[in-house]
Amino acid sequence: MPELELAGKIALVTGGSRGIGRAIGVALGRLGAKVVLNYTSNEAAAIEAAAAVAAAGGTATTKRFDVSDSAAVDSAIKEVAAAEGGLHILVNNAGIAINALVLSAKEADWKRCIDVNLNGTFYCCKSALRYLLKAKDAGRIINITSITGETGSAGQGPYVAAKAGIIGLTKTLAREYAARGVTVNAVSPGYIDTDMTAAELPEAKRAELMKTIPLGRVGKPEDVAAAVAYLAGPAAAYVTGQVLRVNGGLFM
Ligand code: NDP
Repeated sequence: MPELELAGKIALVTGGSRGIGRAIGVALGRLGAKVVLNYTSNEAAAIEAAAAVAAAGGTATTKRFDVSDSAAVDSAIKEVAAAEGGLHILVNNAGIAINALVLSAKEADWKRCIDVNLNGTFYCCKSALRYLLKAKDAGRIINITSITGETGSAGQGPYVAAKAGIIGLTKTLAREYAARGVTVNAVSPGYIDTDMTAAELPEAKRAELMKTIPLGRVGKPEDVAAAVAYLAGPAAAYVTGQVLRVNGGLFM
């Protein structure tokens, strides 16, 4: 039985219904945090994810809102804080990938990708900060960026731009709120097995990819969740403004 080092903490995980966000919810719940799993359309998945948190010994509720809608984000975070009695940990994980070469990328796709991935992260940080600042030196923001935001990726311009922007926002927030007890870090996953990558990684491409990953395998959502759990907890009290890579050594 792990020590319940997040007991008494309230954690909001955006995009917590599936994939990496679901695993983050389970990891934080297992450590004793009360978890709120956000989703935008897949209610059945959100309910299943909350059950997975409970099965791991934690407590979770679900909250539907679109992170790209600033007004919806603000009221949802107010409601969460009022219902739970505050907010200590925000994990900005909700994301979408729209793939297109820059020459053929549609303006609407560019805007949607920036809206969900980057603007959504900004809106959630801005609305949550007023509560995180009251968290008595335990306020935590963890933003999920991507290896592609650090290396670039042909055919993923809008997504890469958003993920690179998240790194800049993370470091800026870390500088702005360090003195007030809020740490802000990013986790940068490599290739992780989820719905997002399933469509992009047919077996042949997957075999090729694995040859390039020093640790020889595609990552699991739990690999990323473990890094988030570390950054959310007391062991990471002196860590802020960092990008923690969870990519099997693919980019060092
Ligand atoms: P999935 O596609 O498996 O899950 C996406 C999650 O985000 C779902 O819970 C979905 O909710 C939610 N979501 C999507 N749009 C919105 C929105 N507008 N508002 C609120 N929630 C939304 O993705 P992954 O688990 O693979 O990815 C999670 C994060 O990790 C993303 O930010 C992604 O960019 C990043 N990442 C993933 C990598 C990978 O290899 N998988 C690699 C690097 C980074 P719903 O169920 O309702 O649709």
